[in-house]
Amino acid sequence: MKTLKFGGTSVANANNIKLVKDIVSQNQAPTVVVVSAFGGVTDLLLNALDLAAKNEIGYKEILSQIEERHFNAIKLLFPVAIHSGLISKVKSELNDLETLLEGAFLIGETTQRLSDKVVSYGELLSSYLISEHFKAEGLDAILKNGRELIITNDNFGNASVNFSKTNEQVAAFFENNSHKITVVPGFVAATEDGDATTLGRGGSDFTAAILAAATNSEILEIWTDVSGMYTANPKLVKQAKCVAHISYEEAMELSHFGAKVLYPPTIQPVLNKEIPIVIKNTFEPEQEGTLITKNTNGEGKTVRGISHIGNISLLSLEGPGMVGIPGISKRFFETISQIGVSVVLITQASSEHSICIGIADKDVANASKAVNLAFEYEIASKKIHPVKVETDLAIVALVGDNMKSHQGLSGKMFSTLGKNNVNIRAIAQGASERNISTVIDKKDIKKALNALHEAFFEENIKQLNLFVMGCGNVGSKLLQQLQQQHSYLKKELKLNVRVIGIANSRKMVFQEGGIDLSNWQDTLDSGTIANQEAFISKIKELNYRNSIFVDNTANATVAATYSDYLKNSISVVTCNKIACSSEYQNYLSLKQLAKKYNAPFLFETNVGAGLPILDTLKHLIVSGDKVKKIQAVLSGSLNFVFNNFNGETTFHDVVKQAQEQGYTEPDPTIDLSGIDVARKILILARESGYHLELTDIENEAFLPEESLQTNSNEAFFNTLVKYESDFQKRYKNAADKGCKLKYVAQFENGKAKVGLQEIPQGHDFYNLEGSDNIVLFYTERYPQQPLIIKGAGAGADVTASGIFADIVRIGNF
Ligand code: ADP
Ligand code: ASP
Ligand code: MG
Repeated sequence: MKTLKFGGTSVANANNIKLVKDIVSQNQAPTVVVVSAFGGVTDLLLNALDLAAKNEIGYKEILSQIEERHFNAIKLLFPVAIHSGLISKVKSELNDLETLLEGAFLIGETTQRLSDKVVSYGELLSSYLISEHFKAEGLDAILKNGRELIITNDNFGNASVNFSKTNEQVAAFFENNSHKITVVPGFVAATEDGDATTLGRGGSDFTAAILAAATNSEILEIWTDVSGMYTANPKLVKQAKCVAHISYEEAMELSHFGAKVLYPPTIQPVLNKEIPIVIKNTFEPEQEGTLITKNTNGEGKTVRGISHIGNISLLSLEGPGMVGIPGISKRFFETISQIGVSVVLITQASSEHSICIGIADKDVANASKAVNLAFEYEIASKKIHPVKVETDLAIVALVGDNMKSHQGLSGKMFSTLGKNNVNIRAIAQGASERNISTVIDKKDIKKALNALHEAFFEENIKQLNLFVMGCGNVGSKLLQQLQQQHSYLKKELKLNVRVIGIANSRKMVFQEGGIDLSNWQDTLDSGTIANQEAFISKIKELNYRNSIFVDNTANATVAATYSDYLKNSISVVTCNKIACSSEYQNYLSLKQLAKKYNAPFLFETNVGAGLPILDTLKHLIVSGDKVKKIQAVLSGSLNFVFNNFNGETTFHDVVKQAQEQGYTEPDPTIDLSGIDVARKILILARESGYHLELTDIENEAFLPEESLQTNSNEAFFNTLVKYESDFQKRYKNAADKGCKLKYVAQFENGKAKVGLQEIPQGHDFYNLEGSDNIVLFYTERYPQQPLIIKGAGAGADVTASGIFADIVRIGNF
């Protein structure tokens, strides 16, 4: 004998039921087939009853939906000739159901007892139609009502099974049953008096397990909509993998902590008889699935799965009067049990100063009222505080038989959650040490599951989730590089970098699985109107682990949002200099936020584009070196201008050429005034550990005051013509001494300045070509011969690669 159970999705419609028939008909052995209600019908029935009890006529609408689902199945599963017979049988059942609902509607209330009657219709109807379909397809099948097999007490809604009576009934029936296939509705049962009861939501699994044990089945197959028991719920964790083999205890623990694929009581009946359970996918029957048996020795693994339960509340009883007083816990737990509330998790501090339990949100009002009443006297005399309630929480649990013999798992669990800014409200470790549970905010469930899954099951691959703002020259190059390097990063660096959101000044777009970078322009065009606030709130709402905000703009309002990202543990990578060159206090507070929230704030490209200047400086500082002096040429634009201003051209023409070739900002005064260079030396000084403001930087402007005061490009260029002879003079003075003009930034003795200098032959700056940058660091370790970094310091390609490098640094963080 075999027992097969098909869940709600597996029997949701005619097409799926045909797949079920194919699977069942492949069995040679006699088979018990337990079926759920058509997917979603149980919820519809409960909704209908709820509305009826609230005097809302909407229940009739739901009733017609239920009718339509079943009529549709009849039309698609059976030959026309037998439609009317089947329809009238279903109609007559639905009429009885309607009468029950009308009753609730008329008296405006419901009971658990009525609810069990109503909700049973789902399984009663599905099992009827499925058994008729089997027969119509020529299988030797019979329908047996579960109420005649499974006997329970009268705890309506979640009745307890009377195993000895049940086993007797089952044995008696099968003794005289010669049909090859016996279809039984799951979930439904009855008291000894024949009153309808049910086994709790998800209870069809339990029905199947009871029947498997009672019939001594060689195997219990649970057919569902996933290919087995996964390392985490595959609907929430994309990377989850199917576990091939797991022990009864592990499966029970995982299901107890929320792995809905198996209803927790299911294991108990088959455990003693050691009947193996296999979880299989109705839609991919060729997949192996998961085998659940007695002992698997963990197959060498420690953590076998991660599960969660949402909608949890914590109740804490605290107070000075609890210490050393026996019996408080007993009274506390008795109170909870008397009102029929089940405790999901318990923690007690060793000081005995508090007891804390996790229960379902729905029970919290009742439970807190009952506990406050039970300790009324102690509360009034201030020995114990009124019970503390925290709601909207969830439990996340690591499960594995072998966890007990390994140290450091809880440390890894807590640090992974901590790094991702998931606040842990309570912790419990079962005495069996088969699980470690943490209570966290409900909103963090998905992030916590994914982060833990990454830490325990994908030690090799880390996922980075990028949100890119600005896709002009630099941004589009970055996206191109990310696309090109995607497989390399995954293979060589074990980083899976996905771009989840993109925005420019007009549009923004998000795709949860990652945007296809070969076609991001079209995707962005189809997005919504860009809005800074909406962008950040969407990122917060997605609440992904390892989230990185990338700013490719030069925009002050974008720079003003960094703190908001960091406070939510979202890292920031930026080429925008505004934040780091703003008031020192702002720069400092961003760095502090980054530390506090474990979210790196990286801005390598603020100085020298892709050159590793800030990163090198950071390594000098952390290893204990001290910066004494910095000399640098940091403006690609100014370097271009002074390399081409050679006595044969006018200064005006060179600047014009630089502007036309894109070496300067559209407004060339930003470069020529030296402000951009001043910002860069400011950032270098700050990163060296000095407290400086932009106004502290001496700016020896080489442009006449009149040029700086102009308010149009045309007026600016006119002043260059007007002062041409001054520029020529500067050039000639330098050339006569064999020097070249370079715009130099310098920091020494705590002071910084920027300005034009005459650089003699032989100096490190003399031969600086094109738009290159160079930085000389004189430090305690490099006192005479400076540490030199030199190379292309401008351009979209190198800037994008600098941003890319910052992203990879976060990946390795
Ligand atoms: P059925 O209707 O077949 O009984 P359920 O919806 O009750 O199916 O259970 C299957 C669902 O359990 C899956 O679709 C999946 O979302 C969920 N689930 C939760 N945790 C796990 C897990 N660890 N492995 C597999 N599925 C899981
Ligand atoms: N139909 C019931 C439910 O949805 C039982 C089950 O499917 O296991 O809870
Ligand atoms: Mg189920």
